[in-house]
Amino acid sequence: MRGKLVVGNWKMNGGLAGNAALLGAITAGWAPMPGRQLAVCVPYPYLMQAQAALSSTPVAWGAQDVSEHAAGAYTGEVSVGMLVEFKCRYAIVGHSERRQFFGDTDAVVAAKAKAALAGGMVPIVCVGETLAERDAGATEAVVLRQLDAVLRAVGSDAARMVVAYEPVWAIGTGRTAAPAEAQAVHATLRARLAKADAVDAPLLYGGSVKADNAGALFGMADIDGGLIGGASLKSTEFLAIARA
Ligand code: PEP
Repeated sequence: MRGKLVVGNWKMNGGLAGNAALLGAITAGWAPMPGRQLAVCVPYPYLMQAQAALSSTPVAWGAQDVSEHAAGAYTGEVSVGMLVEFKCRYAIVGHSERRQFFGDTDAVVAAKAKAALAGGMVPIVCVGETLAERDAGATEAVVLRQLDAVLRAVGSDAARMVVAYEPVWAIGTGRTAAPAEAQAVHATLRARLAKADAVDAPLLYGGSVKADNAGALFGMADIDGGLIGGASLKSTEFLAIARA
């Protein structure tokens, strides 16, 4: 059976003092559970702080994006090699906020996932449809297009990545996909991963996951945990989700 993975995405939130309190509360409150992993993806400037706070704990850490380039004249970018120096296990790629506000295309997301895997990191590849795409009946086509771009780029490394289904209309809105609705998309994604010899790649759900809906979502056959935004900033809520 696949284990469960719960990852916090802090987005552009935090500060040294608040982070210390949050990381301290998470590590103090997290009693490892068999087959269950916990991680936080923090803003780049706080990677060293996360590494210091978490390196002797069972909680992993990562970044919220990564460059597809190894080094050079790419102002503002951060490479896989730099993240590896801070012992990051994960890098989120293709989050809908990156796609929407920073122009990350399917090709860019695929190149980022490929670079992360080549550097020994685990990309958390986000896919998801907008409300307009859902209303047009295009959910499956959109998420498969996004996933296929990555699968073509990473080849046999696909089994080492994590995929997160995050319907854009559910992110930060308080609207969550019903468990059966999310499961249907996950089943589609799982079938595509199976074709790529990556059937056991963890498949997370993200979008307004809270302590009171996590259990029902994570209980679905093809939902292997969650990518958690807003609720990952509150230790009690995040820990309750992690235990769900
Ligand atoms: C996210 O940012 O990946 C996310 C799922 O956000 P939220 O949980 O706040 O909807």
